[in-house]
Amino acid sequence: MSVQLPIYLDNHATTRVDPRVVDAMLPYFSTHYGNAASRTHSFGRTAEAAVDVGRGQLARAIGASTDKEIVITSGATESDNLAIKGVAHMLRSKGDHLITAVTEHKAVLDSHHALEREGFRVTWLPVDKEGLIDLQQLADAITDQTLLVSIMAVNNEIGVVQPLAAIGELCHKRGVLFFCDAAQAVGKIPLDVEAMHIDLLAFTAHKMYGPKGIGALYVRRKNPRVRLEPMMHGGGHERGLRSGTLAVPLIVAFGEAARIATEEMAEESKRILALRHRLHQGLSARVPQIFLNGSISERTPGNLNLSFAYVEGESLLMGISDIAVSSGSACTSSSLEPSYVLKAMGVGDELAHTSIRFGIGRFNTEAEIDYAIERVADVVTRLREMSPLWEMVQEGIDLSSVNWAGH
Ligand SMILES: *Cc1c(COP(=O)(O)O)cnc(C)c1O
Repeated sequence: MSVQLPIYLDNHATTRVDPRVVDAMLPYFSTHYGNAASRTHSFGRTAEAAVDVGRGQLARAIGASTDKEIVITSGATESDNLAIKGVAHMLRSKGDHLITAVTEHKAVLDSHHALEREGFRVTWLPVDKEGLIDLQQLADAITDQTLLVSIMAVNNEIGVVQPLAAIGELCHKRGVLFFCDAAQAVGKIPLDVEAMHIDLLAFTAHKMYGPKGIGALYVRRKNPRVRLEPMMHGGGHERGLRSGTLAVPLIVAFGEAARIATEEMAEESKRILALRHRLHQGLSARVPQIFLNGSISERTPGNLNLSFAYVEGESLLMGISDIAVSSGSACTSSSLEPSYVLKAMGVGDELAHTSIRFGIGRFNTEAEIDYAIERVADVVTRLREMSPLWEMVQEGIDLSSVNWAGH
């Protein structure tokens, strides 16, 4: 079976919009273009009704008990900022301490950095070599000054799933709020804000086959009622938490994307997991010395993050230029540092620089995976043939015993 190049295997960065989602949103650009706040005429009421449907679909996708708990934002970055700064600023008189983990998304890390500059104190939890936080360390970090614990559901680089239910239970018992960045999780793994005691949850349409520029923040209204200080002031939209005219077509799309993801998750996860196994096994069979980054069991189906020893990350990426992937190496990021996530897990610089993140999604096929296996295996093999280090390893020389300076 032939494949169309290039192949998209970067579904953690963003996803293609599902054609069903495009169909659902189009009428709200050109026919039903009213402002959802215009209650005096049918254009407005049609738009408002569509927003209500979308909001309900979003609430159901995460097990929210009422649609009123969904605040529409521009994406997970905004939701992360609103949750963390909103809680900290609202509860400033109750405490000054926040807890998060070192492998969180930049939007979470940098929101905490901003609060540190305002005088808040932050505990940065480490992760183990699998990429998971330690529950005892979390429990020990909570004090009577702690306002909020922010731990993501699924990591965007290595796909590992944190123990959400246990974290939620702990936070609930100790009376601190639990915020979860679930941008990579909604529609991919089962999530239930009630069962998991999640008080705030961020998600975004473009990671789940919806459009870019639309996201949401779940804000619990009962047991406990979470109060936030808004960041955006204006017309009082979204119960005063996020002013600004609602993006009706995008909300319709986000809702439809959530509906599809919820209905098809069980089926889709099986298919995507089978593709990941195929990719992992295919590569392992063809190339020795490849290493999986992150837990194998606590992992979202679509993620495979591998390091290829004895090749140069940049050359590898150039060699597989017809496959769209991301890498933990310097050449794809703006900084020269290797991935902070891999570093936090104790992956050495060498292996971090040769890591590739394969993000498998709804539209990938078996034929594409087979092509990727062949291509990556060929390039790794060719690069190693040119590597003096690989030659030494093949000759049985223990590289750690080599005296490179020649003394
Ligand atoms: C993509 C992503 C974000 C940012 O979402 P945007 O909607 O692009 O702002 C935040 N957190 C995680 C874990 C993500 O994967």
